Amino acid sequence: MASQITQLHEKLVSKEISCTQLVQEKLDALAKNQYHSVNFLLSDLALEKAKAVDAKIAKGEKIGLLEGIPFGVKDVFLLQGQHASASSNFLKNYISPYTATAIQKLIDAGAIPLVKENADSFGHGSTSENTIFGAVKNAHNEELVGGGSSGGSAVNVAKGYTVFSIGGDTGGSIRQPAGFNKVYGLKPTYGRVSRYGLMAYTSSTDCVGPIASSIEDIAIVMNAISGKDYHDQTTYESAPIDLSEFNIQHSTFNIGYYSDFIDNKGLDANIKKDFLAVIEKLKAKGVTVKALSFKNADTLVSTYYALAMAETASNLARLDGSMYGERANADSLKESYALTRSEGFTEESKRRIVGGNQVLSQGHADEIYLKARALRAQIMDHFNKDFKEVSVILSPVSPASPPKIGGSLKDPLAMYLSDIYTIGFSLGELPTLTAPVGTATGIQITTAKKQDELTLKFAKFLIAAL
Ligand code: GLN
Repeated sequence: MASQITQLHEKLVSKEISCTQLVQEKLDALAKNQYHSVNFLLSDLALEKAKAVDAKIAKGEKIGLLEGIPFGVKDVFLLQGQHASASSNFLKNYISPYTATAIQKLIDAGAIPLVKENADSFGHGSTSENTIFGAVKNAHNEELVGGGSSGGSAVNVAKGYTVFSIGGDTGGSIRQPAGFNKVYGLKPTYGRVSRYGLMAYTSSTDCVGPIASSIEDIAIVMNAISGKDYHDQTTYESAPIDLSEFNIQHSTFNIGYYSDFIDNKGLDANIKKDFLAVIEKLKAKGVTVKALSFKNADTLVSTYYALAMAETASNLARLDGSMYGERANADSLKESYALTRSEGFTEESKRRIVGGNQVLSQGHADEIYLKARALRAQIMDHFNKDFKEVSVILSPVSPASPPKIGGSLKDPLAMYLSDIYTIGFSLGELPTLTAPVGTATGIQITTAKKQDELTLKFAKFLIAAL
């Protein structure tokens, strides 16, 4: 699909549509939708901004590419004066005191935020059922989950309710719902986009990235949101992604895939067959393909969840009713903390907080937390070595198609295992894109750190090759 942003820009400039009309249509569609993708609509803010864009166009002033383009925001980002609930009881009435850097950069470029989008509470989940706003329904089959945790964002893009959405990806939360709803989703290199104003889940893997309906739109949004930020010490300056010079005919790629990922017993037979067919097609196009091994693939899930739970237990310790959100009345301070936290968090979030405090507790931290840190260092080394031999690694996005709504939270272990293909690249801090092609839940394209542009170029190549 061609760039929707560019097409809409041209329509705005030629006055084929007005920005107010565009924004109003999207707001109406969001308001009416039955997918549980919306937590809060930003109607007043959006229409006011649309009016300003229309006034500019009427005066004959030039507008930027993103100016007047409506987008969605996962409800774990702060946007000053607006709700930021993390889909939790805890923060259901919380109003953001400032704006997240990535969102501010888009607003500065003239893009218009329309909606705070439903997601798994605090990013905890893989289905967007862990939310007080109702389980998000899949864009292509309402009986199935929307994927998670950025489920509302992916569904909104897939249904055309937003032109693009900004999600958060800690262990797959942009890529997996993108795959489940057949759109593009990029988890950039860790540090390329500031996390400032994103509620922290696993700070050491949290990434901010776009979900969109084309590779071009992913690049346009990335170029607006990337860059060094004084508020986030992990950020770095990056050159803009440039796809204009890329010539598919004159490119050669050297790709790899993990045979252990494909031999995994948990992988659905059709996804396996379709993935291997993609590999064969690429070989037939003259691409060099190497089967790589990831001997410790099984440890990816345990390493990730040990660290994720430890970090989220620490990060969410700040929510005790004294500073943010709801506070339960009680006779003593201690009781108030206990009551506030048991009422404010969902069962799944509580499970992770309890698990995380166990991981970090005296007597266990060496065995679990420090061991997970050491394993993560080995996993990163493994990727770094593999990227000396190949420039792109392909993998499935998920081991199975989206499950039916209703079952996943009852079997958390199975849900954690379903993250097997996404979480490793998060631990590796690598840029990874879901392209909605090849298998029922898409293909994941990963490159070495800071090679985000190459990831998108390969995606273009892959689309043309299939
Ligand atoms: N499903 C994974 C988890 O629950 C990833 C979530 C995310 O990336 N926020 O931790």
